[in-house]
Amino acid sequence: MRVTPMLEQYWSLKREAGDAILFYRLGDFFEMFFADAETAAPLLGLVLTARHRDSDIEAPMCGIPWHQLDTYVARLVAAGKKVAIADQAEPAMKGRTLVARKIVRIVTPGTLLDPNRLDARRANELAAAALAEGEAALSFLDLSTGEFSVVRLPGAAAAAEWLKRRVPAEVVCFESDRSVVEAWLPSLAAEPPVLSALPSAPRGRSAAELLFRHFRTTTLAPFGLPDGGPAVEAAAALLHYAQMTQRSDCAHVTSLRNEPAEEGLVVDAITAAHLELFRSLRDGGAAGTLLSVLDRTGTAFGARALRRMLERPLAQRTAIEARLDAVEELLEDAVRLERLAKTLREIPDLPRLLSRLAVGSAAPREVAGLAAGLVKAGEIGPILAGARSEAFREGGEMSPAGVPTALGARVAGRLAPEPPVNAREGGIFRDGADAGVDELRSLRRDASALLSALEAKERAERGVPTLRVKFNQVFGHVFEIPGAARAKIPADALKRQTLSTVERYASAELVELDEKLRSADARLFEREAELFRALVGEIVAESPVLLDAAARLGRLDALGALARVARAGRWVRPRMAEEPVLLVSEGRHPVVEALRPREPFVPNDAALGGEGERIVILTGPNMGGKSTYLRQNALIVLLAHAGSFVPAAAATVGLADRIFTRVGASDSLARGESTFLVEMAETAHILRHATSRSLVILDEIGRGTATFDGLSLAWAIAERLHDGENGDGRGGVARVLFATHYHELTELALVKRDVKNRTMTAREWEGEVVFLRKVADGTADRSYGVQVARLAGIPETVLARAREILHNLEKHQLDVGGRPRLAEHAGEPAPKETQLDLFRGQGELVLDAVAKLDVDRMTPLAALQLLATFQHRLRGEE
Ligand code: ADP
Ligand code: MG
Repeated sequence: MRVTPMLEQYWSLKREAGDAILFYRLGDFFEMFFADAETAAPLLGLVLTARHRDSDIEAPMCGIPWHQLDTYVARLVAAGKKVAIADQAEPAMKGRTLVARKIVRIVTPGTLLDPNRLDARRANELAAAALAEGEAALSFLDLSTGEFSVVRLPGAAAAAEWLKRRVPAEVVCFESDRSVVEAWLPSLAAEPPVLSALPSAPRGRSAAELLFRHFRTTTLAPFGLPDGGPAVEAAAALLHYAQMTQRSDCAHVTSLRNEPAEEGLVVDAITAAHLELFRSLRDGGAAGTLLSVLDRTGTAFGARALRRMLERPLAQRTAIEARLDAVEELLEDAVRLERLAKTLREIPDLPRLLSRLAVGSAAPREVAGLAAGLVKAGEIGPILAGARSEAFREGGEMSPAGVPTALGARVAGRLAPEPPVNAREGGIFRDGADAGVDELRSLRRDASALLSALEAKERAERGVPTLRVKFNQVFGHVFEIPGAARAKIPADALKRQTLSTVERYASAELVELDEKLRSADARLFEREAELFRALVGEIVAESPVLLDAAARLGRLDALGALARVARAGRWVRPRMAEEPVLLVSEGRHPVVEALRPREPFVPNDAALGGEGERIVILTGPNMGGKSTYLRQNALIVLLAHAGSFVPAAAATVGLADRIFTRVGASDSLARGESTFLVEMAETAHILRHATSRSLVILDEIGRGTATFDGLSLAWAIAERLHDGENGDGRGGVARVLFATHYHELTELALVKRDVKNRTMTAREWEGEVVFLRKVADGTADRSYGVQVARLAGIPETVLARAREILHNLEKHQLDVGGRPRLAEHAGEPAPKETQLDLFRGQGELVLDAVAKLDVDRMTPLAALQLLATFQHRLRGEE
């Protein structure tokens, strides 16, 4: 290949871009070459071509029009790619062979700042991991808001675990840690974050120095951090990466928060998914989630604050009570609450606007929006005047004080009422804002008046009433007359353009005026752009104050939303207790209740943690409401820890350290053994991490495998949760709700003191099941599995035989000594007669089929398939 200067320039930019796809500006296009083109073309639906007319690079290529840059970049980033944008650094000039180009930005999933592509209501985080011997650290940065934090952890495993709680869009690490960090990714999310290993990020002393320089300090002590170690390296790597991709010093990142590793109630990602906090299980969308029910915030940053409160609920009693006090006070005064909501709705996304200012990509119109928002935010303080709660006082977690309203007013006072989107076209400032701008504007006005006069004069002299002065990009101002009047053009006129219908020309006088006008424009635009940059600088300098105020307003907005939801749904303030209990009277599921307003929700009580009832085994028919009951109790505990009221008539919630929820695979036939493995791995995690203060919700655990396996495992798990690691009950978990389709599991209550059986009630009426959805003491009196099978269309003869077998099974559940068979331990004498005897000669398959028919009531399809097999066996067919 011929090595041309352009190709050389291209390769040097490409080296700088690293693993990012390079967008190379060529005229009106951004072009991609070589492997970049081959990767991007299918993702963007572009056709690969050979050579661009303005380029001498001979390679496969594809390109996009420059003005569609954002759209295409967003598409590649959404596909997990990074994009480096190389723009022209100088105007293309005639005679120059090669225009200087430089990378102006690298866009990656974690650094995307385009407000049109970001979900305004959630954080878009970048994370960095740094590993050392027996020590690790994670750092998080939301570039769109400037929030920056670091957490120190005891090792790589703890770091991997922590990441699951807070899945970022992109993970950054040192090249040397790549293989370790890479292995974490698949378990983080269905669409794991992209990984960027940094070969040149600073380490050790230089890492600390990078942070010192950025924060203008000589030590990190103010942030509660040592001046070395993985925490510093993770934070420095992240900042380095942000600066490198943004090509900016990221001045809006003004502080580094040291997060305690064990902060708050731990809600892992699996639990968050099962409880549908932020994504529905059905389609992964927002509808039907807890957040969607609670999110009545007015601002985008308030929505993010609310989400964070749910992601990381509190664990300290004083902090929880402070929030509950605030919610209670807001809720008491409906008029004030509505005024607050109304005002907040008019405040734009201050932190994200500020971050766009900081990286220099904000439009004048956005700056005006920010200024107006600051002025508006100043109205919040008076609305809350006289509020008693600590949180609203100056310095409190939700204090509305300290908004730089004066700055907003000053900026708004200088900007034009409707400033343009483009900072290069003038019209940014008001008349009177700057003497220089005013002078240039009047010059322009004068010239325009002169232009009109000249037009009138030329029209009269030529005697052509349709003569007009027109402006043209190439020729500037020209006189334009109809082609038919061509003869009237004077001989000394400067010919400009002859078209079929019109003739364009100029005169010496017009040319002079045109130049005057154009230079006035250029000077005006330049002056305005310069002033605009200074104004932006002024605002960015106030970042710390502004971000701090926005953070407090965001939390206020979030609590306001909680108060409004509580008011509308008649929720109550939970009583927080030190003992690990959960006492709920008339609890409801907030989402199920909100989604079906026409069907009355049946409230249910819960009593957990006391003597005799640490573990509740919940049985009942499929569709009876078991899962709903489990989840509503978990949500009540979570909401209380977030500082929210709860959907119940009364609730006492003991402080918890973790909430675990696990749900058995819902369709074992279709999904195979791997789901069972996942289910067991998840459960093993609970057994290792649950403490006496945890809340454990197990929904149909063991379902992903053959009946007897699943039942034995469910039994052993429940036993372990009851007894604790030492087997004496002291390390046992105080709050466990275990829904199961294994009726045999209820026999655990015969041998374990603190196991309590409860059931979702249902009645049979004219051969149909009627769900009462009320939790009662005891065990489900019958399974209704056969009724469900009937609903699925199983022939009556088969159903009758199934009933007979069921009866046999039930009869044989106790061993010859009268104890439940399942309570037996290995080593004890084997019972004389076993269930298998029933099926002697029928084979394993039938045993399995019958067992599943009995238990797998949830999926009529599964029952149908199994019954079909069963039927064949009964008829003696293979
Ligand atoms: P299970 O886990 O026992 O199969 P689910 O909890 O999935 O039952 O509930 C089945 C259906 O019943 C759900 O769609 C839900 O809308 C409804 N439901 C559950 N509990 C209640 C209740 N307490 N009041 C009203 N409807 C309920
Ligand atoms: Mg269920």
